[in-house]
Amino acid sequence: MALIGAHVSISGGLEKGFLRGEYLGCEAIQIFTKNQLQWRASPPTGAKCESFQKAWKESQIREVVVHASYLVNMASNTELQQRSINALVDEIVVASLLGIDYLVVHPGSHGGIGEKAGLKQISDSLVSILDRTDHTRVKILLETMAGQGTTLGYKLDHFQVILDELDRPDRLGLCLDTSHLFASGYDLSKKNQYQNFKRKVHTLIGLEKVFCWHFNDSKKDLGSMIDRHEHIGSGKLGLNPFSFILNDPQWDNIPCILETPKTGIGDEGNLALLRKLRGY
Ligand SMILES: [Zn+2]
Ligand SMILES: [Zn+2]
Repeated sequence: MALIGAHVSISGGLEKGFLRGEYLGCEAIQIFTKNQLQWRASPPTGAKCESFQKAWKESQIREVVVHASYLVNMASNTELQQRSINALVDEIVVASLLGIDYLVVHPGSHGGIGEKAGLKQISDSLVSILDRTDHTRVKILLETMAGQGTTLGYKLDHFQVILDELDRPDRLGLCLDTSHLFASGYDLSKKNQYQNFKRKVHTLIGLEKVFCWHFNDSKKDLGSMIDRHEHIGSGKLGLNPFSFILNDPQWDNIPCILETPKTGIGDEGNLALLRKLRGY
């Protein structure tokens, strides 16, 4: 079965993420390993890595996913590109030290140089990042985006273009975000639409390349290209897409991570809803 979880805070220490996840009854968690709005952070000490791995072993959390900093932009053609490459290399090294296998990254924004040129910048960035982290097994999961502004990755075709430029399939994958997919025009609310979408992923990228789902409902309409998360079932998606995914053996052991608002019913309410949809 798919693993249900949420993005949790690491305030007070990286290993505190497990306590928060367990309190919520998560089977998987997503964390930032540093302040997501800062470029640099000193890597965790050996002792910190040990206490993180110990807390993980003692918890019921099966899978941990890291979300990369919001500052990085692999598609940039300015000095921001090199800065982003360096930052992502750091993040991969930290994930590896912590024993985490997945780093979710936003593909980037082309900022006016055009989609084709932006996609090429992303592929080039990835070549460099993968080369410099060859000693790790951390997978980079490119996240599907809503398509605001000049953001890339709002079409599955973009990932096909990026991945086609690379010969490192073992270290790359996808993170599918339900709210971003919907905002960018992929409707999964009817069974046949969901099946069609899976076929598209299969044809363009490969279903085995999907290692994570982000579970969010959307405040905004289908194709709006606007990224606004809503509580599960309270937005424009409804419950169907979540039910289809959670009951599909295709996603066995794949983390489905909530990034819904912490207000209102909060993670507790959203997780309870997901458990109900999954049947337990
Ligand atoms: Zn994200
Ligand atoms: Zn979003």
